[in-house]
Amino acid sequence: MKPTVRHLVVVLGDQLDAGSAAFDGFDPARDAVWMAEVRSEAEQVWSHKARIAFFLAAMRHFRDELRARGLRVYYRELTDSTLQDELKKSVRQLQPRRVIVVEPGEWRVREELRQATPLLEIRPDRHFICWPEEFAAYAKERKQMRLEFFYRYLRRRHRILMAGEKPVGGRWNFDKENRAPFGKDGPGLVPRPIGFPPDAITRDVLGLVEQRFPEHPGRLGNFDWPVTSKQAAAALNDFILNRLPRFGLFQDAMWAGEPYLYHSRLSAALNLKLLDPREVIAAAVRAWENRQAPLPAVEGFVRQILGWREYVHGIYWRFMPEYAGRNVLGADLPLPAFYWTGDTEINCLRQVIGQTLAYGYAHHIQRLMVTGLYALLLGVNPTEVHKWYLAVYVDAVEWVELPNVLGMSQYADGGIMASKPYIASGKYIQRMSNYCQSCRFKPDRATGPAACPFTTLYWDFLMRHEKKLAGNPRLMMQLKNLARLDGAQRKAIRRQAAALRRAASRPAA
Ligand SMILES: Cc1cc2nc3c(=O)[nH]c(=O)nc-3n(C[C@H](O)[C@H](O)[C@H](O)COP(=O)(O)OP(=O)(O)OC[C@H]3O[C@@H](n4cnc5c(N)ncnc54)[C@H](O)[C@@H]3O)c2cc1C
Ligand code: SF4
Repeated sequence: MKPTVRHLVVVLGDQLDAGSAAFDGFDPARDAVWMAEVRSEAEQVWSHKARIAFFLAAMRHFRDELRARGLRVYYRELTDSTLQDELKKSVRQLQPRRVIVVEPGEWRVREELRQATPLLEIRPDRHFICWPEEFAAYAKERKQMRLEFFYRYLRRRHRILMAGEKPVGGRWNFDKENRAPFGKDGPGLVPRPIGFPPDAITRDVLGLVEQRFPEHPGRLGNFDWPVTSKQAAAALNDFILNRLPRFGLFQDAMWAGEPYLYHSRLSAALNLKLLDPREVIAAAVRAWENRQAPLPAVEGFVRQILGWREYVHGIYWRFMPEYAGRNVLGADLPLPAFYWTGDTEINCLRQVIGQTLAYGYAHHIQRLMVTGLYALLLGVNPTEVHKWYLAVYVDAVEWVELPNVLGMSQYADGGIMASKPYIASGKYIQRMSNYCQSCRFKPDRATGPAACPFTTLYWDFLMRHEKKLAGNPRLMMQLKNLARLDGAQRKAIRRQAAALRRAASRPAA
């Protein structure tokens, strides 16, 4: 007899939450869950092997948890088909009355599902603290959006780290106490984040990825990501106990061979919905209340989750699909081939890209002020940069990746996300890391054979965009310094920058 299904609940790879709105009113006797691993999703961009493996391993664990609870799950293991075609096929076979899904994390996927079946009901994503409707209403009342004010609005609204109407500690921001570099002796012994050695399900997935995606970038040898909600809770606990107290202080510091430092490593679990952001924020606030972590560290961390994470989610849904095509600086270079291999003599890039390929992870400043900064200064087309970031990080889902890349890192949105382009010379990288110590270039030189490519391109970027940036009060100091360069210096910088651009545009050997 043909199986009958009343509601078919679609669970996408980044929706692994049995408490989501898709399960509201779920009747195990009449309803069923539908999940599919489709090759086209792994190949939308040239995904890192660890990114593919992370999604598939977490999906298979979630499937088994649902089945163990008695739910009927139609699960398609890796197929060469597309999400849309697979769903159409299942709808034809099962003939549900309704197909239910939570708001997907990517515009394209939402449109594809809509086209797959007229039976589709899209439910709100309760994972987020600020829903797109609230964000749109908030944005409508303001001429300009800024993270700081949005973050304060959410702190007040949800009474997080508040003492009456005032922020606890009397300040909203502890940046002055935070963001220190390590001294010359480096970070010393940093507590290693808890890892989760692959179990039988994950080992199967790792084998499958090696076999079916052999040409894809990245390696799987370090794969120890949390792939269940239980493991994600253990990862949160480990971070709160061992690394949160120094999170703020060393938030922006980088060190060769130390991928995680005091960072939480929770983004991947959060983005697949294995963790709830409210739970993460509450755990950090509790640590401050119990005097296990200082306020600057806790505030700095809450700002990332409640502030930045919710902010980029709001920006994505408010401005898509037009947002993805923005390129206000007219950047048109191809992405240098070494972004896929790390094969470059520019040591900071070699370190960060090498780490990315080995782990599928880089922390915020590595993404913003090394790989992102170089692409921005060089003038790489923002769509190419976006595709790289969406491919190489295990935590990459378009709603969070795109505004961070296009807006924050490449300034391609003309200032929606950030009030100025994040630009700096090699001296910033020298101050915040040890990368320059073993580099053949000198961060304080803009021209000549030992000139640091970041420094050359920094001045060149200011010259190329001087007119466009002139009205920005946050860049006044940088433009004032530019004005001190004489004609000969400008000419030499331009020539050196043009050579860097030519070299970066060459196809890989
Ligand atoms: C160019 C660029 C691309 C990025 N791409 C992604 C991406 O694809 N996926 C992703 O989750 N984050 C992305 N980020 C944001 C940030 O770099 C990562 O969230 C962070 O590095 C993840 O590591 P962690 O969990 O150890 O974070 P921590 O440093 O421990 O921070 C705690 C948490 O705060 C949240 N968070 C911090 N900064 C941001 C931010 N700017 N936007 C949104 N959430 C934030 C994350 O959930 C993170 O887990 C990107 C940033 C830049 C500059
Ligand atoms: S000198 Fe320049 S290129 Fe070399 S590591 Fe430092 S910032 Fe990077």
